Amino acid sequence: MSDRIAPEWPLAAAMLEDLAQRGFTRRHFFRIATLLGAGAALPFGSEHALAQLSNVGQLPDDAVKINANEFPEGPSEQALAALAEVAKKGNRYQYPATDALVVTAAELEGLEPNNFAVYPGSSLALHHAVVALTSPTRALIVATPGYEAAALAAELIGATVVRVPLRKDGAHDLAAMLKAAKRQPTGVIYVCNPNNPTGTVTPRADIEKLIAAKPAGSVVVIDEAYIHFSDEPPASDLIRAGKDVVVLRTFSKVYGMAGLRAGFAIARPDLLKRVAAWNAGAMPVTAMAAAHAMLRDPELVPARKRRNADRRAALMHFLEQHGFTYTPSVSNKLMVDARMPTQQVIDGLKQRKIYVGRPWPVWPTHVRVSIGTEDEMARFQAAFLEVTSATASGRR
Ligand code: PLP
Repeated sequence: MSDRIAPEWPLAAAMLEDLAQRGFTRRHFFRIATLLGAGAALPFGSEHALAQLSNVGQLPDDAVKINANEFPEGPSEQALAALAEVAKKGNRYQYPATDALVVTAAELEGLEPNNFAVYPGSSLALHHAVVALTSPTRALIVATPGYEAAALAAELIGATVVRVPLRKDGAHDLAAMLKAAKRQPTGVIYVCNPNNPTGTVTPRADIEKLIAAKPAGSVVVIDEAYIHFSDEPPASDLIRAGKDVVVLRTFSKVYGMAGLRAGFAIARPDLLKRVAAWNAGAMPVTAMAAAHAMLRDPELVPARKRRNADRRAALMHFLEQHGFTYTPSVSNKLMVDARMPTQQVIDGLKQRKIYVGRPWPVWPTHVRVSIGTEDEMARFQAAFLEVTSATASGRR
């Protein structure tokens, strides 16, 4: 084993003490272990769903996979070269590669290295934020429809979850979320900006108001998995200003590294320590090398953002031409109202080897479509018209 095992090894005595003080009982400990990956074989229904929200199994070779908001391009040429080089020394932990990635990220964000904890993607960081900051006596407030992982994790460990509908314009209703947060002791207010599944923005001014007015002791977790696709300001400056904010970032989307796995939790050092105390182990060096190479390329994100925006505009144009309404997305996916039950659309598209997002039952006729390549979008469009018109005319 590594000689860098953190003294805060999960579920060690000090952590059990911390959990007990926050209202967790022994009954919850197994569930926390499950959430953190130690209990993959334990019989909790939702842990499977937690880890695999977008897992649709093995797909045919000619499938159009626009179900998981992945970017259609993978790591850049430079990233692949760096990855291949570092893989030759894959027998070594290579902690300095992770440290170097953090130094570069901190410089780019105008923050300090001790504001960053590195993760294999951001899912685990989100779970750690939930375990560290919510409890059976501290609620989680989320928007709906939204990215469900935080709520599923909180419910699994016995925290109350309050779901607040998005505003009509697709923004989080932060005024209503604030009200909800004041109704009981609250640990986390989760803001996904831009939101998944809608791709919609929550204005920065509203987020600042929320932070100023939120109950003492609560933390605003801002999930910026899709921030690079939008023109929204990242929340790094809120961390610089010392706010009670945890920002989550991932390399799974615009950087095309969903399978390689890299991400960050970013926060004030004292707050980050609480979250990342649950983290353990070295990061995959291949992911560190690829992520670092792409962070150092100033052209990469703007170019990918432009290509995504062009394909998104084309999709919106197509939907308008055919009379479908959709969410005003600034991201790499949108929700379209298919005017028929979501699952029927998913199934009809699947028969045509087109794989779109899972259903969000609060919006029972909407389908989430990720932005793929031009060819993939053309195949989606043809199939979508077939499926929706076939059902509308009762010919299915
Ligand atoms: N946060 C949001 C809003 C997401 O949509 C996703 C994945 O789709 C994640 C976090 C987790 O992604 P990953 O664990 O690949 O970083």
